Amino acid sequence: MTDLRARLARVRADARDRLAAAGDVAAVESLRNALLGRSGELTLMLRELPGVDPEQRPQVGQLANAIRGEIELAMKARLGELEAHALDARLASEAIDMSAPGRPVRVGHLHPTLSVERDLREIFHAFGFEIFEGPEIETEAMNFEALNIPPDHPSRDLWDTLYVAEPGSDPPRPATDGTILRTHTSPVQIRAMRELTPPIRVITPGRCFRYEAVDASHNFEFFQVEGLVVDRDTSLADLKGMLEEFARALYGEATRTRFRPGYYPFTEPSVAFDVSCLVCGGPGCPACGRSGWMTILGAGMVHPSVLRAGGIDPDAYQGYAFGMGLDRITLLRHGIPDLRLLMGADLRFLSQFAGGR
Ligand SMILES: [Zn+2]
Repeated sequence: MTDLRARLARVRADARDRLAAAGDVAAVESLRNALLGRSGELTLMLRELPGVDPEQRPQVGQLANAIRGEIELAMKARLGELEAHALDARLASEAIDMSAPGRPVRVGHLHPTLSVERDLREIFHAFGFEIFEGPEIETEAMNFEALNIPPDHPSRDLWDTLYVAEPGSDPPRPATDGTILRTHTSPVQIRAMRELTPPIRVITPGRCFRYEAVDASHNFEFFQVEGLVVDRDTSLADLKGMLEEFARALYGEATRTRFRPGYYPFTEPSVAFDVSCLVCGGPGCPACGRSGWMTILGAGMVHPSVLRAGGIDPDAYQGYAFGMGLDRITLLRHGIPDLRLLMGADLRFLSQFAGGR
């Protein structure tokens, strides 16, 4: 049975080469199966042992077992090698190249309306105003009556109000406690007067709601910034001077301004405040209706009944107030023709304002 001895020697020699050629764990496992598995080459040879000449059988058996042990050890070593290589490869692939150029990161930016609001806050802060905020859900008493707009007063038609429904009412009817969504930020002025002690200088940025059909210049939701000054001797001249400074701070030194008579129930006298057209600068163009002027806000001296509603004695104090639509200021600043663009979530439009202004 020297034939079996020779075949065993060949398996031993071949196993070394085949193992060295096995490039990964799977190849080693498949070799293990081919040599040592149930019908592996070495296994089949061991089964031939009973037919070997009894004198030689112990020696051949010993050789076969030794080869089997050698192959198992060699496989274990090879697997260890392969695992170490795999780890090296993984480390190499995950290595950080400190000299590689960075990948661009998508950074968000302020919405153009919010960016204008920030600018207004800054400008008015420089004029000594502080921020005063109030709730978006108000009562009719605060939104109208306290602002000198009694129930059934025709001027209420100026504000198409969204009422909160009385719980359980069907069809829905306005809540009996008069809960509404505020139609302007003016009730915050009442809250400021009740809470603060004069001299008062506040602006009241915030969101308002009206029952409006949505079109290029109207929305049911919009933003306002109002301002209020209450002191012992404020005057229309102070208001005029402050607004002129404000317009130049917002739109540049060359901006011209004018006041026209206006009407609001909560101020007396009331004025409309215009700036020279931001598009044509004065000669007249379609954007300004060929007038050369654009109205940016309404203002006036606070009505004595409004001061009283705020707990301020109108004989001892006067006040002036002004209010503007943030959306309109934003449209004018960027020459945007349609308010709905600001309210949409179209990134192709909004990303144009990544620069901030
Ligand atoms: Zn113009």
